[in-house]
Amino acid sequence: MPIPTEPIGSIPRPRELIEAIQEFGSGRLSQERLDSLYERAIRDTIQRFEATGSPVITDGEQAKPSFATYPIHGLENLAADGIVIRFADGHTRQLPRLTRGPFRYRRYADGYLERAKKYARVAVKQAVISASALSLLYPQEGIEGYSHEAFLEDLIREAEADIRRSLAKGPHNVQIDFTEGRLAVKLDPTKQVLNHFIDLNNRVLERFSPEERTRVGVHTCPGGDRDSTHSADVDYGELLPSLFKLKVGNFYIQLASEKDRRRVLGIIKECARPGQRIFVGVIDPIDQKVEAPEEIRDRVLEAAEYIPLSQLGSTDDCGFSPFGDDTSTSRETAFEKIRARVLGTELASRALRV
Ligand SMILES: [Zn+2]
Repeated sequence: MPIPTEPIGSIPRPRELIEAIQEFGSGRLSQERLDSLYERAIRDTIQRFEATGSPVITDGEQAKPSFATYPIHGLENLAADGIVIRFADGHTRQLPRLTRGPFRYRRYADGYLERAKKYARVAVKQAVISASALSLLYPQEGIEGYSHEAFLEDLIREAEADIRRSLAKGPHNVQIDFTEGRLAVKLDPTKQVLNHFIDLNNRVLERFSPEERTRVGVHTCPGGDRDSTHSADVDYGELLPSLFKLKVGNFYIQLASEKDRRRVLGIIKECARPGQRIFVGVIDPIDQKVEAPEEIRDRVLEAAEYIPLSQLGSTDDCGFSPFGDDTSTSRETAFEKIRARVLGTELASRALRV
């Protein structure tokens, strides 16, 4: 068995789709026209994804407004003034704020998976957002008549349904996006917030059987948007020991863009448990330069010095545009980088004779 390799999720949307979404928002474009552009973007993304040779693909999240907000987009019990996330280059993204209960998802990720599988010939994975990310919707001051614990119960049930519905549609696996893990350490160095996030996500995961959890994974990164990050300055050593407590079978870990990869690999070696598959990031989506396959091969070989081959995989550090309107990377560059990951991982498999 060669070393497995998987993407994270998002691919930059075609410019005509981004413009159409804006026009739809201001009432100048019909739903029908927008839907046909989504369909075209999904079909084109899947064809190009398959052409890279990637054994596992995604729909490039073409129809997700963002990796985090797809379940809540269009809900009526939200206000715009939620938590602000600050990136290293100074730009910000703001989450909505929940104004009243009960909390329900408006959309589940299995709808995307179903659509992708219409076109795909190879295995498709599906990304979902973590319960911990959406827990940030509940305001600090509380909501009258809707307690924090009542909200968390609703949230856990909805997050479980999101994973379960996707698992039922036969994906390669389901990946929980947990980009707020590293951010949690930045916002609260005492790690109370991080530990709360881990516990909350485990409350969701405990509802699945060990067999089901082998098909569930978690992605960590310092949050990529517009070629910047929100928590790359947080020491991985503060996050990883807690991360591996998550009750999933697969870990998708940003690594290519780390300054000291060997140190991080050493921490992974100490913390990872038997039976956990570690997909190490070998592509940096923020770097415009396309990595050479030989460079990827060497990164996989480096990781193989620390992680047993039976537990090793490769991935991209992050999606290529987790937010739908991010145009900092071109579609061409994203697919070229994915092709390099696939080729480089094959070279490493050959070098390691697996
Ligand atoms: Zn990411």
